[in-house]
Amino acid sequence: FFITFEGPDGSGKTTQIRRTAEWLQKRGIDPVLLRQPGGTPLGEKIRAILLDSRAQDPVSPLTELALMFGDRAQSIHEIILPALREGRVILCDRYTDSSEAYQGAGRGLGSERVLAIHRAICDDLQPNLTILLLPDVEKALERASRRNQRHIQQTGTDENRFEAEGEAFYRRVHTAYVDIAKREPKRVALIGPGTGDDGIEAIASRIREIITT
Ligand code: C5P
Ligand code: MG
Repeated sequence: FFITFEGPDGSGKTTQIRRTAEWLQKRGIDPVLLRQPGGTPLGEKIRAILLDSRAQDPVSPLTELALMFGDRAQSIHEIILPALREGRVILCDRYTDSSEAYQGAGRGLGSERVLAIHRAICDDLQPNLTILLLPDVEKALERASRRNQRHIQQTGTDENRFEAEGEAFYRRVHTAYVDIAKREPKRVALIGPGTGDDGIEAIASRIREIITT
């Protein structure tokens, strides 16, 4: 069973994946945890290139898209398909919806191009369920900006590209996620706004409810 967690920067994906994994483990299910970009040795190299390039010479939007899908294809080959064959539960931090939101909408490449590459490179492999964490856009912006300032202070790099891209970029990402949820209501369970601001525990229990049913 393939579950992805989606949402903009600062939406709490990483926290909720950890909570969900702990809950599954208590019930005797040992999930496979994965993040994109990253997760495989090649993927972590691609992630490092992408994040590093943000601090130095910028990667073009299409190069970024190609690298994201290079990472994804390797994850599918190395981790996702083998895990599915063994009947395991996969919890994945970001997947193709992120590319649609960030590269398609954020960087302006368009959904159609992203989905065409998904069909070609990922054999159109879709998650069984997507948990979309979508807090109020103003709150997410505030959180992401604060986190990024801290990151810049600590490392000198703008990992989340927040300062470079600015607010308009993140608003496009947010809107794209809303559109995806509307287009695929069966696959995508949207949490928030409203519910998305109800605190870590309330969101964690909502996710448990969604997965159970
Ligand atoms: O999910 P995570 O925070 O680890 O992602 C690192 C950064 O990569 C995010 O800040 C996000 O802006 C960016 N990203 C992206 N396009 C994707 C996935 C992530 O720009 N498809
Ligand atoms: Mg995260």
